[in-house]
Amino acid sequence: MATTSLDLAKVRNIGIMAHIDAGKTTTTERILFYTGVSYKIGEVHDGAATMDFLEQEQERGIIYFRSAATTCHWPLEDNDYTINIIDTPGHVDFTVEVERSLRVLDGAVTVFDGVAGVEPQSETVWRQADRYGVPRICFVNKLDRTGAEFHRCVDMISDRLGAQPLVMQLPIGAEADFKGVIDLVTMKALVWSAEATKGEMYDTVDIPDTHVEAAEEYRGKLLEAVAENDEELMELYLEGTEPTVEQLYAAIRRITIASGKGGGTTVTPVFCGTAFKNKGVQPLLDAVVRYLPTPLDVEAIEGHDVKDAEKVIVRKPSDEEPLAALAFKIMSDPHLGKLTFVRVYSGRLQSGTAVLNSVKGRKERIGKIYRMHANKREEIESVGAGDIVAVMGLKQTTTGETLSDEKNPVILESMDFPAPVIEVA
Ligand code: GDP
Repeated sequence: MATTSLDLAKVRNIGIMAHIDAGKTTTTERILFYTGVSYKIGEVHDGAATMDFLEQEQERGIIYFRSAATTCHWPLEDNDYTINIIDTPGHVDFTVEVERSLRVLDGAVTVFDGVAGVEPQSETVWRQADRYGVPRICFVNKLDRTGAEFHRCVDMISDRLGAQPLVMQLPIGAEADFKGVIDLVTMKALVWSAEATKGEMYDTVDIPDTHVEAAEEYRGKLLEAVAENDEELMELYLEGTEPTVEQLYAAIRRITIASGKGGGTTVTPVFCGTAFKNKGVQPLLDAVVRYLPTPLDVEAIEGHDVKDAEKVIVRKPSDEEPLAALAFKIMSDPHLGKLTFVRVYSGRLQSGTAVLNSVKGRKERIGKIYRMHANKREEIESVGAGDIVAVMGLKQTTTGETLSDEKNPVILESMDFPAPVIEVA
């Protein structure tokens, strides 16, 4: 059985947030599908094979289940990344749950409907993410729909959400003719093949002549915005030196993380596509890995002493620190029974050991530990800091409570959580 100590630099704990109907479910399913395909089969050579695989899975009755946290893998530049997708309940009524889930994730993808743009619930979740300092990237979805307008949505991100959108891609074609995107970092066009509806397959080609001028204009705007927000890039910009692709990736990552953590305008990279028509989700996954934080970017988490709520205790994301884990969701699994989803902030969580529920002051025995994948669960013996897993056997722990090392108790979530709900007009 695996005892995993993940390379935290290769972990992304993310949420997908949206106004209802914007395409959160579809985007999530596509993510689980593409990550499942790439992980299990290694490579898929043509779109038809992808779809056959999906159909077979459906015929066998395997449907992607929705777990409070689902683990998937995505390869990028010879590395294998672990992406834990934390379910953020979409409905406004579940605000306490939304806020708790926002607390345990490190970054998020905000999905917008390319026709409706920024909607009231998009604003609600955006403000909540601001409050919890969650760095974000945006995905303007449904570009295949009549009336979809990428640039209008970008303007709304700026006007309604008060964020600074970094346009990372330009669409090629619109509505039924939407056929690709221009990547403004690499200055290449990603064009989906005719079989794109059977699976996301695209060719990376030169930017079409008709789009070169717009691409250069937007690339210029992107470089300017990045330089404005990042000292390293500003130096290059002032010298008139063109940054390399890697320098741009690194700068956009720094900006997304630093601004997302709060204190000023949220600068957010914006991507586009149509999840339903399988266009744009794979580049979005690349962006999740490239720009969203790792658990190490959360330098430390603050909790408080069990007896004195004023006494702050700080824990670093390291296996060497005493255990501190937050239970954020309890679900009933048809096969396993009660499962408690926890995020381990520091230390290790080991199956078969006793830990302290520091809020109740009671001991809990850790039963089996599972990593939940879209279509299977994997039992693991122990997990370290930064990880998100489901635990069996916890009898007394409810959501929001902390599991700690017995000798070093800490409470991560204050009693007055959550903070007041933000009303949307
Ligand atoms: P959620 O409420 O945000 O989870 O939205 P869903 O993923 O359930 O999508 C809502 C509706 O929009 C469904 O009927 C989807 O099939 C449809 N949909 C999702 N993505 C797209 C898209 O890219 N293009 C089009 N035309 N429809 C989409």
